[in-house]
Amino acid sequence: VEFEHCAFPLTLSDNLKKAGYEAPTPIQMQMVPVGLTGRDVIASADTGSGKTVAFLLPVIVRAMEKAADGVCSPVALILTPTRELAIQIERQAKELVIGLPNMRTALLVGGMPLPPQLHRLKSSIKIVIATPGRVIEILKQKVLKLDKVRIVVVDEVDSMLKMGFQHQVLEVLDQVPEDHQTLLTSATIPKGTEELAARLVRDPVRIAI
Ligand code: AMP
Repeated sequence: VEFEHCAFPLTLSDNLKKAGYEAPTPIQMQMVPVGLTGRDVIASADTGSGKTVAFLLPVIVRAMEKAADGVCSPVALILTPTRELAIQIERQAKELVIGLPNMRTALLVGGMPLPPQLHRLKSSIKIVIATPGRVIEILKQKVLKLDKVRIVVVDEVDSMLKMGFQHQVLEVLDQVPEDHQTLLTSATIPKGTEELAARLVRDPVRIAI
């Protein structure tokens, strides 16, 4: 499968080329078409595999559909365990949404000042990229609503578990409408991770590279 076969909007295809993503990586070849169908996915893929673009493409296509429908609160939520990962994800997302209308992202992560993050939420955000603790803090302030979220990514589920974020992840996802699509990534899927993953997905397609 090549990116051209996914029939992306022209601007998104151009952005892929400009970012230097000419050919999909193996995880992208498997995950993007399945993600675009709306199915849940459990992908075992490590950092360096291109997993970020693999989940961002379905996220962006879905967010574009909802932006076109006039939805102006977040439609995509990406949870990741660390600030560094969140920053990388947002950087790649921004590269891919250049020139796409109404596709703003927000980075909600701990270890950085809260007020600018709250301020950012005053504009119409489509894609939230967050660490679990900070998003809970912000949800408590009632300045963020997840009731329009249609697609959720839980990145590095194994690290989430190791870092003790299981309950926080579940608490956040409690605020998301039930009929959303979920894309999970995990470097490895030992028993504990499988148990958490099973609580987050419905009838998932499993992808391993
Ligand atoms: P990740 O596994 O998501 O952390 O990505 C690892 C690196 O691969 C990142 O720096 C991406 O920019 C890069 N990358 C992702 N997809 C592609 C692609 N299709 N072609 C070339 N580089 C890519």
